[in-house]
Amino acid sequence: MNTLAESRLDPASAVVSEICAAGEPWVGRVNKGQTFRIVDLEGNQAVDTLFYNAENAQERYSATDTLSRQMRVYLTTGSKLYSNFGEVMLRIVADTCGRHDTLGGACAAESNTVRYALEKRHMHSCRDNFLHALAHDPRCEQLGLGKRDIPSNINFFMNVPVTEDGGLEFVDGISAPGKYVEMKAEMDVLVLISNCPQLNNPCNAYNPTPIRLLVWD
Ligand SMILES: [Zn+2]
Repeated sequence: MNTLAESRLDPASAVVSEICAAGEPWVGRVNKGQTFRIVDLEGNQAVDTLFYNAENAQERYSATDTLSRQMRVYLTTGSKLYSNFGEVMLRIVADTCGRHDTLGGACAAESNTVRYALEKRHMHSCRDNFLHALAHDPRCEQLGLGKRDIPSNINFFMNVPVTEDGGLEFVDGISAPGKYVEMKAEMDVLVLISNCPQLNNPCNAYNPTPIRLLVWD
């Protein structure tokens, strides 16, 4: 099935257009009815992403609901992003990459140590980015979000094939410069992104790069 779909929205008419630097976190709000686009500016960048109901953060993105309700292991055009309350938070309406992961999780000091080497422990990770944003961003603070509020995330543009025997592999990306994924919000959401700083596997082609975030009314 061909799931590639382009958007007709013009970046010049976006109400938000921001760059998130390589390896950094980003927090933003997308209201019901607005459209949110993530652009992989230089290609092969993993974008670890979480969504919370902007009014009640007990409701948040759920990878298990999203996969089990749709019986599909990858995300692309047409995928609905479900919350832990079983509601659709956002719907992917355009995608020029074609496949996004929600099984691989976010990199952390612990996983870097187990997967790569003990001395990788102090390298910058997505979990560090999430924790930093939760502790310092006033919008996260206002929702009462803390360390316990980091569920399994989406890895936009990351290529994590599920093997025949049910394992996961982190392999070279299928994204390329300028590819994007776009979603329409079905509720007001707070978006929390870690623009992955990982240097130990090919998820960022060993070279983390910036992304652009756009919102349209
Ligand atoms: Zn990461």
